[in-house]
Amino acid sequence: MTIKEKIVDLKSQLPASVTLVAVSKFKSIENILEAYEAGQRDFGENYVQELVEKAEALPKDIRWHFIGHLQSNKVKYIAPFVHLIHSVDSLKLLKEINKQGENNSRKISCLLQIHIAQEDTKSGMTPQEFLEVISSKELIALPHVDVIGLMGMSTFTEDLNLVKSEFKDLATIFQEGQKTQPSLTELSMGMSGDFQTAITEGSTMVRIGSTIFGSR
Ligand SMILES: *Cc1c(COP(=O)(O)O)cnc(C)c1O
Repeated sequence: MTIKEKIVDLKSQLPASVTLVAVSKFKSIENILEAYEAGQRDFGENYVQELVEKAEALPKDIRWHFIGHLQSNKVKYIAPFVHLIHSVDSLKLLKEINKQGENNSRKISCLLQIHIAQEDTKSGMTPQEFLEVISSKELIALPHVDVIGLMGMSTFTEDLNLVKSEFKDLATIFQEGQKTQPSLTELSMGMSGDFQTAITEGSTMVRIGSTIFGSR
C-alpha cells in the first residue's frame, strides 16, 4: 500500500473521536506531503531540530505534535508553533514551556507523560506525581500552559495481556485526574503495534509511525 492508502485504511479503523497522529520522525518531506495530500494534518516528531526544519518546509496548517524527550533549553525553538507537547515529564519543564508561551503570547497545550511500563528507558512521571502536579497551586500560576491530558507508553513486549493491563492503568489514572481537573480531555496512548488495544481501553489519540511510513 502507498502512504495515502495506509492513511485511508487506518482512518477507517479508528473511531471518529480518536485523533490520528502520524509519527514522521526520520521520514522525508515527500513522505509527509503524501500523507498530507490524503488529508492528514496531525504529525508527530521526536527531535526539536528535525521538527523545526520540517515545519519551515511544510504547509502551515499542519498541527505539529512533539512526542520525544524535551530538554528545557530547546523549548524556545518549538514554542512559536507547536500544537501539542505530549512528553512533559516535570514541573520544571512545564515552567519553561509557560515562559516560552508567554514570550510568544500564546498558550501551549501539553500532556503529562506517565511512566508505567516495565522499562527504565521510558521517561515520565509516576501516577502520584501526575496527580500532584495537576492539582498543584503552581500549575494555576502558569497561565501560558494548558495541561489537557496524559500520554503513556506500554512495555515493548509480545505479551498483549501486559499491554492491555498497562493501558487500563493509564485510563484509570486519567479518570482519577479528571476528578480534580475536569478539563483533561486527551489520553494519548497506542502506537503501531498496540493501537487497537489502546482504543479499546479509552485512548483519544494514537501515535502511529511505522504502519503508515514503513520501518525506520
Ligand atoms: C516513534 C514513536 C511512536 C510511533 O511508533 P510506531 O511503532 O512506529 O508506530 C509513537 N510514540 C512515540 C513516543 C514514539 O517515539
